[in-house]
Amino acid sequence: TDNNTIALVTGANKGIGHAIATALGGLGWTVGIGARDDTRRAAAVRDLRAAGVDAFEVPLDVTDDASVTAAAALIGERAGRLDVLINNAAITGGWAQAPTETDLDVVRTVMETNVLGVIRVTDTMLPLLRRSASPRIVNMSSSVGSLTRQNEPGDTTGPLSMAYAPSKTFLNAVTVQYAKALRDTGILINMACPGFVKTDLNGHRGHRTPAEGAVAAVRLATLPDGGPTGAFFDEDGPIAW
Ligand code: NDP
Repeated sequence: TDNNTIALVTGANKGIGHAIATALGGLGWTVGIGARDDTRRAAAVRDLRAAGVDAFEVPLDVTDDASVTAAAALIGERAGRLDVLINNAAITGGWAQAPTETDLDVVRTVMETNVLGVIRVTDTMLPLLRRSASPRIVNMSSSVGSLTRQNEPGDTTGPLSMAYAPSKTFLNAVTVQYAKALRDTGILINMACPGFVKTDLNGHRGHRTPAEGAVAAVRLATLPDGGPTGAFFDEDGPIAW
């Protein structure tokens, strides 16, 4: 694995994460499949390997310190570094989330996974990323986290969302802080919106395929040195905060 690019995709056992792993594997990269469930993770790695991807299992629950620490140790032992981190794992906490009607525990749980989980994984993987020649971090965000889009007349970013949408807004804000802190390190960190993709996350209401949803993230994972950092993109280019 010395010359190979080493990537970790969180929440890669299904959905867009699985499609990102497939696409990165298609570039010849070695891809760690971060997933919390042993059976689902093993099945995904089996599928990916059968499809020709150099995939390996990374047991990972982004809400659990010990799990994330163990994941970094595993990648360190296997590759000695990490080139690309895709923070993809997320939950919605349910679809319609009206203010005054959303349980605080839902808000707390969604923030724990979608925001604190990303911070935990990023902080824990940074020492490995610093050993890469061209480190990249991609945070999977969503246009539902765009304050601008939500305030536009004819907003199409979905239903009232008291937990999920603000979690992505917060994630975007956190990503900008990392970008500022890492500006002189060569580490590029950006956010991707996949579009509305048919997955378990939205009860398969989305209209795009997971492979289409992976395109923006793969582009940010393969940015050249000196490329953008602290920016928010979908497949068509930069999107409003
Ligand atoms: P899915 O629900 O299909 O997949 C989510 C993945 O995250 C699963 O692998 C799930 O694992 C994993 N996950 C959840 N919690 C944890 C955890 N604590 N630790 C580790 N893994 C976890 O969602 P999508 O593929 O649709 O979404 C992927 C990303 O894209 C998310 O960040 C989402 O917010 C974003 N996005 C999706 C859109 C869409 O239309 N689908 C639109 C905009 C953004 P498990 O199987 O164990 O539950």
